[in-house]
Amino acid sequence: MRSIILATVLAALCLLGLAAGAKAGCGPRSLGVERRLVLSTKGGFAVGFKSYPRSLDLADHEVVLTFDDGPSPKTTPEVLAALAQECVKATFFLIGRHAAAYPALVRRELAEGHSVGHHSFSHPIMRLLPDAAARADIEKGFMADDQAAYGAASAQPKVPFFRFPGFADTPALLAWLESRDIGIFGADLWASDWLEMTPDAERKLVMARLEAAGRGILLLHDTKPSTAAMLPALLRDLKARGFKIVQIVPGDAKPVFRKAPPGWRSETEAILAKVLRGRGKVVSPGAAHLPESVE
Ligand SMILES: [Zn+2]
Repeated sequence: MRSIILATVLAALCLLGLAAGAKAGCGPRSLGVERRLVLSTKGGFAVGFKSYPRSLDLADHEVVLTFDDGPSPKTTPEVLAALAQECVKATFFLIGRHAAAYPALVRRELAEGHSVGHHSFSHPIMRLLPDAAARADIEKGFMADDQAAYGAASAQPKVPFFRFPGFADTPALLAWLESRDIGIFGADLWASDWLEMTPDAERKLVMARLEAAGRGILLLHDTKPSTAAMLPALLRDLKARGFKIVQIVPGDAKPVFRKAPPGWRSETEAILAKVLRGRGKVVSPGAAHLPESVE
């Protein structure tokens, strides 16, 4: 009996030791994660003030970090290292064909505690595709991402989070995704890291936008060298200026939304109108590809 108690005590001590070890380097000086925001996607939703008149109900100075278009063997490891250094968790919206090409990076994102959502298979601008072709690309992306992440894929993606390439949703696709209980994530602010910029200029731009907005879902790209380069300093800035990181994870909690202020207008609609102007009714999937750097 005594040996059983002793073994139990030793096991408990060992677990405590492991917990302490896991926290090593994640003390009060690191940015860390303030809270995990559990979101049920039942019935679907679409959030992010750049495109939709509502967003997640974040508190003042709360930020959700999101990275699109990866993984990339050139830059994603650097991004993951910067996040690990500050004990920060983010959400990666994967391009399926990249996930299929670099599954070890997807598994690393999961192993390091990040959330892994979806961003289509081949990053087409879906407004330029017939509905069936757009759906097929989204489905293929879900399958490729889950196959890479978990070694298996079923009809419903494990993490039902999706972001449209270039924010180019359509009413039909939104309704279809909502009927499939998929949560749609736009963004509240972005780094404009598709533009040529020095890492320092990008960091300053992001901080200025965050200071102005006060909170929000931030869009970055883990495929951009300037973003990977500025991330360590950005995370230190966030800590220094009192910002807190919120990690979004799927679960059972009914989401709470914040409404856009009166006079709200979709910023992405204006951008898309500009980008798509002159392209006519392009329906060939091959011709419909815009560079991934558009968004
Ligand atoms: Zn993208």
